[in-house]
Amino acid sequence: MTDIEVKEISKDENNVLAQMVNMDHEQILFCQDKATGLKAIVAVHDTTLGPALGGTRMWNYTNEVDALTDVLRLSRGMTYKNSISGLHLGGGKAVIIGDSRTQKNEALFRRFGKFIDSLSGKYITAEDVGISPQDMVWVNQETSHVVGLPGKSGDPSPVTAYGVYVGMKACAKAQFGNDSLSGIKVAVQGAGHVGQYLIKYLKDEGAKVFVSDIYEPSLKEVSEKYGSTIVGLDEIYDLDVDIFAPCALGATVNDDTLKRLKCSIIAGAANNQLQDETIHGKIVMDKGIIYAPDYMINAGGVINCFAEVDERTSAWAMDKAGQIYDTTAEIINRSKANNIPTYAIANKMAEDRIEKAK
Ligand code: NAD
Repeated sequence: MTDIEVKEISKDENNVLAQMVNMDHEQILFCQDKATGLKAIVAVHDTTLGPALGGTRMWNYTNEVDALTDVLRLSRGMTYKNSISGLHLGGGKAVIIGDSRTQKNEALFRRFGKFIDSLSGKYITAEDVGISPQDMVWVNQETSHVVGLPGKSGDPSPVTAYGVYVGMKACAKAQFGNDSLSGIKVAVQGAGHVGQYLIKYLKDEGAKVFVSDIYEPSLKEVSEKYGSTIVGLDEIYDLDVDIFAPCALGATVNDDTLKRLKCSIIAGAANNQLQDETIHGKIVMDKGIIYAPDYMINAGGVINCFAEVDERTSAWAMDKAGQIYDTTAEIINRSKANNIPTYAIANKMAEDRIEKAK
């Protein structure tokens, strides 16, 4: 038998296998179809805990490297989110390269559905940015491995908002000694699907809400319905508030905003809130701010999807999302006891559950 020389795999970002090794992905499926113009990538990150579940994103990526980077990062994020939420699900994600306003049609999504079906249930898809329930109906014509269909688990935003709300209360308990949000000042960035439900919970409990959004009608709506104070897009970082709740964009906790934020809690629905997890997670802790790890506190949406997969009721999903209170409290306690940032504690908890299952 001849010796096979095993070369060290390079970390070059153009080397797909090297990226898979670095981020520990199980499988990537590249899909193309000339007839429909479909170009998609499905990334299955880890199926130790169950089938990989994560949405499909349709985005006009500038190039394929960006699309690949996005799907690898997002699918790994789903593994962590599903693990820390105690779901019997692994992590995966799909991206369709294209303009969601002009390039959608039935044939494209049915072709995509066939590719999903070829994975035989190893990956279950759902909606993400640029994808509607109708698109998923087309996907469902070719595969049963899809959730978030009309008439099934429905809009996940109310469950996501509830999880964020209870997580926020756990942060308040740790920071102020009491989990009541009555009289607490909260800056909500983004009055979209989740933001609006969250503002209702906050208003009902007597919190004072400040809100920013780029979309005027949403601001008008929350101001009229809940009496929230409208603030400027940039002004939101300078407010004298107790809690900053990012519910719009990622990377809003960064070098610039950390010099300005006066809050002692950061807890919101947006994904990837820390621009650089390692750097900004540490600064936040050193400043005495409690940060609720984003993928843990915003897991209500995927919990809602799991309820559909596992044929559970919406009441079960709300109850499960309510457990985000305890998980948040545990992460904060461990963070304080070990002087380790909350994001790192959350990552460890997610990784430990997978290791144990292995
Ligand atoms: P959405 O699109 O309905 O709402 C986002 C809102 O943010 C919109 O109203 C938009 O106008 C606003 N916005 C955009 N740029 C802004 C800016 N610079 N400043 C202030 N507001 C701005 O989205 P959503 O479903 O409410 O989700 C909000 C965030 O939570 C997203 O980051 C999403 O990825 C994350 N998330 C959502 C869910 C869910 O169940 N919907 C689950 C997990 C995570």
